[in-house]
Amino acid sequence: MVSYKELGLVNTREMFKKAVKGGYAIPAFNFNTMEQMQAIVQAAVETKSPVIMQVSKGARNYANATILRYMAQGAVEYAKELGCPNPQIVLHLDHGDSFELCKDCIDMGFSSVMYDGSSLPYEENIKISRQVVEYAHKYDVTVECELGVLAGVEDEVASAVSHYTKPEEVIDFATRTGCDSLAISIGTSHGAYKFTPAQCTRNAEGKLVPPPLAFNVLHEIEKKLPGFPIVLHGSSSVPQEEVDTINKYGGKLPDAIGIPEDQLREASKSAVCKINIDSDSRLAMTAAIRKYLAENPSHFDPRQYLKPARENMKKMYIHKIVNVLGSNDKL
Ligand SMILES: [Zn+2]
Repeated sequence: MVSYKELGLVNTREMFKKAVKGGYAIPAFNFNTMEQMQAIVQAAVETKSPVIMQVSKGARNYANATILRYMAQGAVEYAKELGCPNPQIVLHLDHGDSFELCKDCIDMGFSSVMYDGSSLPYEENIKISRQVVEYAHKYDVTVECELGVLAGVEDEVASAVSHYTKPEEVIDFATRTGCDSLAISIGTSHGAYKFTPAQCTRNAEGKLVPPPLAFNVLHEIEKKLPGFPIVLHGSSSVPQEEVDTINKYGGKLPDAIGIPEDQLREASKSAVCKINIDSDSRLAMTAAIRKYLAENPSHFDPRQYLKPARENMKKMYIHKIVNVLGSNDKL
């Protein structure tokens, strides 16, 4: 058993309290590789932002859970080395699908876990969420639970249709589970294809315009649970310039589409205090690598193309922190 406190990590409790009060959101960036980790830490340090580094089941399968945990520990030390004496870094399990997985992560040094029982019947979701919360709170680890179903595909989480969170259920759910934050469904979606063209309209230039988020549902939930931390999953914006770069250099991502940043900015000002961004990092990395390799066909040292990839991700992370979530200068 390793406590996250020994690793210099923090849980989400104080962070979320301040974010809800201050009208901003904490970035939750997924990571699988060293370059992503470095880019996240550099961006957080330069902007003086708290940050959540999150690990999905797919990331654990790809990189190995132990390695990711040591990388998070390394992230804390790296932040200090970059001139941030007291970094606020959370190591969070994204979409834990069983009590056992959540327990395993808590035991190995995670400071926050998500238990996602959103696909289960309501009472079953409450039962296992409660079990995770009871275990986690013994070690001062915070727990995110989910109510409502997001559409889209992310690693091993997939659903064809979304069901908005029912505001009439949130008080009962939050009270009986004892969770520290609640992921809700108001029209965000996992992956780089958040909406089908049929769900969108087209603007004058023929570009897809996605349907707006259900702010009415968010506001109703806020009224039921005043000041309670709310989480948005599937909140990449799928920047068109990255998609265009990928397509220009041999990629094929027709009609990839995300959540407009102005809507996320608006959500950040509410009780939404954690916004999950994964696909945008994937796109930034792939766009930079495709461009570099196309322009430098004789290069084969991974450091040559991973360096611009890391720079491009860092630029994206800084942009999100400063211009979308507003978590800069909050350390
Ligand atoms: Zn998610």
